[in-house]
Amino acid sequence: MSTVEGQDGEQLSITPPKTWAAGLPGVAHALEYSLGQTSIRRTALTLLNVNQAEGIDCPGCAWPEPGRRHKNEYCENGAKHVTDEATTRRVTADFFRQYSVSELGGKSDQWLNQQGRLTEPMVKRPGSDHYEPIGWHEALGLLADELRGLDDPDEALFYTSGRLGNEAAFLLQLFARAYGTNNLPDCSNMCHESSGFALLETLGTGKGSVSLDDIHDADLVFVVGQNPGTNHPRMLSALEQTKRSGGQVIAVNPLPEAGLMRFKNPQKARGLIGRGTQIADEFLQIRPGGDLALFQALNLLLLQAEDERPGTVVDHAFIEAHTTGFDAFAAHVRGVAWTDVLAATGLTRDEIERVHARVLASEKIIVCWAMGLTQHKHGVATIREIVNFLLLRGNLGRPGAGVCPVRGHSNVQGDRTMGIWERMPQSFLDALEREFGFTPPAEHGLDTVGAIQAMLDGRAKVFLGVGGNFVRATPDSTATERAMRTCRLTAHISTKLNRSHTVCGQTALILPTLGRSDRDLQAGGEQFVTVEDSMSQVHTSRGRLHPASDSLLSEVAIISRLARLTLADQPDIPWETFEADYGTIRDRIARVVPGFEDFNTRVASPGGFRLPNPVNRRVFPTPGGKAVFTRNALTMLQAPKGHLILQTLRSHDQWNTIPYSGNDRYRGIHHGRRVVLVNPADLAELGIADRSQVDLVSVWHDGVERRAPSFAVVSYPTTPGSAAAYYPETNVLVPLDSVADHSNTPTSKAIVIRLEAATSGEE
Ligand code: SF4
Repeated sequence: MSTVEGQDGEQLSITPPKTWAAGLPGVAHALEYSLGQTSIRRTALTLLNVNQAEGIDCPGCAWPEPGRRHKNEYCENGAKHVTDEATTRRVTADFFRQYSVSELGGKSDQWLNQQGRLTEPMVKRPGSDHYEPIGWHEALGLLADELRGLDDPDEALFYTSGRLGNEAAFLLQLFARAYGTNNLPDCSNMCHESSGFALLETLGTGKGSVSLDDIHDADLVFVVGQNPGTNHPRMLSALEQTKRSGGQVIAVNPLPEAGLMRFKNPQKARGLIGRGTQIADEFLQIRPGGDLALFQALNLLLLQAEDERPGTVVDHAFIEAHTTGFDAFAAHVRGVAWTDVLAATGLTRDEIERVHARVLASEKIIVCWAMGLTQHKHGVATIREIVNFLLLRGNLGRPGAGVCPVRGHSNVQGDRTMGIWERMPQSFLDALEREFGFTPPAEHGLDTVGAIQAMLDGRAKVFLGVGGNFVRATPDSTATERAMRTCRLTAHISTKLNRSHTVCGQTALILPTLGRSDRDLQAGGEQFVTVEDSMSQVHTSRGRLHPASDSLLSEVAIISRLARLTLADQPDIPWETFEADYGTIRDRIARVVPGFEDFNTRVASPGGFRLPNPVNRRVFPTPGGKAVFTRNALTMLQAPKGHLILQTLRSHDQWNTIPYSGNDRYRGIHHGRRVVLVNPADLAELGIADRSQVDLVSVWHDGVERRAPSFAVVSYPTTPGSAAAYYPETNVLVPLDSVADHSNTPTSKAIVIRLEAATSGEE
């Protein structure tokens, strides 16, 4: 172990990265955090309800629950997330009297979160530096007046994070469209938008096709650009089952993450006391952004194997019956040069051929991926190439095979299904019109990057955020904060304090809401909400705890009341009924959203129901009615000499934008988040000493200097030429217009940076 001065008052210390995930330490860390937030009784009450059929859906991520559930059906991080929300700490009016907005702006993300649950609506009026209490009616009236006073509905922005349940999401998009805008940016714009675009284009539907059973049954599962040990920990249980059924796993990532190596399942005795299960049969430590080249090389090898043994490798019957574009694709791939593949991937030809041999030996193949693929300029092209790979051998529309984009936020997929998208198809808008009797605007709205640009340009003036932490989740932090401050009014519907509450428009509102774990009592009785997981299973979530404050309103209630005040001259939508009984919202969803027929009845059965995916019937609803092979130019990320390619990532002790501590124990980082992980060979070449203090400076064509100051360099086995550092601290380095082609997703996994000797003290 070695130590240098850390950034949180404690010594930054570095230990060797872990080579396995979970096990007893995971249980101990979960309990330690939970008991620091609330009592033993409340911890037990909360945790025993998480992910149970009649319980709370864990807000941690969108990984699905198995049919047969363990009584502890959650992971270390899920336990931390639900008890973080169930905390007994409270933020009251006294707190806001004590701290000005400026003072709160100087506090860390961790400190803000640790203050506890918000308890009553607050307003910061123009010219003031303090939030003060405000009644619900006045707060919502103030927001409604601002909305009604805008010259154009497109001057308003309605942002959501994926925490929102289906019912509130449906109401929010209904309200925004009845008000007159499609400005519905969401967190999906920043994560899986590339997946949605590529899958919609090639398969005709933007969602994953596989179920948990498929993962268990697969012969070969690729886990690409993904760190399940931290970001979707129960995925490791599924991969363990794949292995125990005789399947294999290929992990592809620039960092050798613990969860990709070995898993000690805390639900099993063998995981608590044994050596656990090896996860990756083959680990490819790829250069950032090299995945497109890797899959193109695998496709080339498959075509060549078919040349050698005609009729044994490629599924010609499937290709003939269900796809288009094969010949052009094949001609393109045959032109790929190995020198380019090896340069782009940083892999050896032997490594790729070993994986190819496993592919040839496998009947049923699944490819899973996450942000490591989507947050690149060529993210859409990479996912298209993965689709090519699966189409070649007919690995779509049969058990144990398919595409699996693994979503982060718990209901981010459901929110999109409910209409939270700035570009919903006309068929959805027509169904809304039939159901509610108004004509939704047809023109596309603004996504997240577009929304920030519109605020900067003065085209957007009112911002409502439902959940999330907009200014910390978004790229180009300095520009985004400037954008928020240009607004006439910013409002956030939130459970806890975060940085976005401290970056205010002229007027700012905090509208505190119920959490997932809180009981939701309305005029029509106790309510539940519904969510859709990453594998399209729709099910209920029902809180059990007494709400954090008697002054809280549910998200459904806040949106319904705001809509009534804003759309007073359009009385045809029964907002009051919706607020009283969420079942009436589900009745409307059933008539508007395909796949939700008889919603209330079907969701009442334990575990809910799975939305149909036509791909699983080998029906591809593209314009041509067939799956589409595509041609994708091989892309190679290059940094100028003396520079590195930075990827942003989260620590193990972090939930989205919120760090729970300065520790990242799988990577061996303790008491420090301002660290940059760099390969020792790069440090030697750059002449930079391990543990020295540097500033990270990003290089972009606009000439604007984006600097993240005072990072400790940590020698780490990243892919040579690349670096890694935590977000949100490094979001400041991601230029607003550095986005993926087609999807507009910020390229947070490919930022060209240089390391400069630190110019100042800590930020
Ligand atoms: S895997 Fe995801 S949804 Fe499941 S308990 Fe962990 S954080 Fe929660």
